[in-house]
Amino acid sequence: MANPATPAQWRAALRAEGVPFIELEGWTTRGRDAATGKAFGPVHGILNHHTAGVDSLAVIAYRGVPGLPPPLAHGLLRKDGVVVLVADGRTNHAGPVAENVFNAIVAEKPLPKQDKSKTVDGNDVLYGLEVENRGDGEDVYKRAQYDTWVRFNAAVCRLHGWTERSAAGHLETSVEGKPDPSGPVAGYGRRGRFLFTMAQLRADVRERLAHQANWSPPTTQETPTVTPEYVNLGLARSFQLAPDLWDDVEFTTEWNDEPDGHALNSPTFVRGAARFTGSVSLRFEGLDVGEVVQVRMSEYDDTGALKQDHPIHEVIGTPGGTFAVVPLTKRLAAGRSMRVRLLNQGAEGIEVVSAILTVLAWGE
Ligand SMILES: [Zn+2]
Repeated sequence: MANPATPAQWRAALRAEGVPFIELEGWTTRGRDAATGKAFGPVHGILNHHTAGVDSLAVIAYRGVPGLPPPLAHGLLRKDGVVVLVADGRTNHAGPVAENVFNAIVAEKPLPKQDKSKTVDGNDVLYGLEVENRGDGEDVYKRAQYDTWVRFNAAVCRLHGWTERSAAGHLETSVEGKPDPSGPVAGYGRRGRFLFTMAQLRADVRERLAHQANWSPPTTQETPTVTPEYVNLGLARSFQLAPDLWDDVEFTTEWNDEPDGHALNSPTFVRGAARFTGSVSLRFEGLDVGEVVQVRMSEYDDTGALKQDHPIHEVIGTPGGTFAVVPLTKRLAAGRSMRVRLLNQGAEGIEVVSAILTVLAWGE
């Protein structure tokens, strides 16, 4: 329950909530209070409508419809998302409201189905917002229009300290079978086209009310920032590499990295789906000058079966130990793991003194 907003309160609340609005001349004194002898208020909620027309301002503000003298709402939300403030007093928009629904609005509880046996006069106690739309199920509420719609309802709720449950639709309160508001909405925030429902409007008002009044819903898809995993592995000790045999490098030491991208004590250094780039630094002893060690990456599946070999990189023996840095860059499919393999093409066994792998891996 609240006293109806004064013009100053309307202006301040709408401005704070980012509602674009214009003031129709005379709106601050327009209303049906004098004509009916019933003062508007106290107010208990806001009732949402669609106009079922085009360019409805004159009808709502000045002409009315047969049996219903104007004004027909407190505000008209135009298709361009601008609200025209029409009246500050009692207006002819709600008609009879099922009492059980009205009581739920007052208590801010979920709205029951209308019990038509008892009604209250909604025009005494509810603000009315008419949203311009033909109401034929084809006319689309534009994004700007729906954005203002949410803001307007939130502004009223915030002003009076109400929750989103104080916002209702004519179709929820009417005992005469009113169908409004309804129709397709072009989109809101990150949401694409959807069909208007009061449940969705209330959810969007609720979201607004959880923020400051100057909040705006994010409108673009944010690209998540993917931080690569840093994989840095080495050998616990040197090992012998026999001639003529492809041998996995068993990375046994975890130097500085994060979990889950690979297995410990395993030749696997990255699991798919992932992209990775980096290198493995190798040091060999006993590799004769001019002799060759081949290095390649190989893909395995989850059962440990070799699925694919990648191109060979050749390391040629030099005097006084042999050093090589081999680049590692690949995209790895889901269910695949990657190993570094070595083939000693010399006649004698050699020693792999160290193998240090440094890779940045992006999970996909
Ligand atoms: Zn209506």
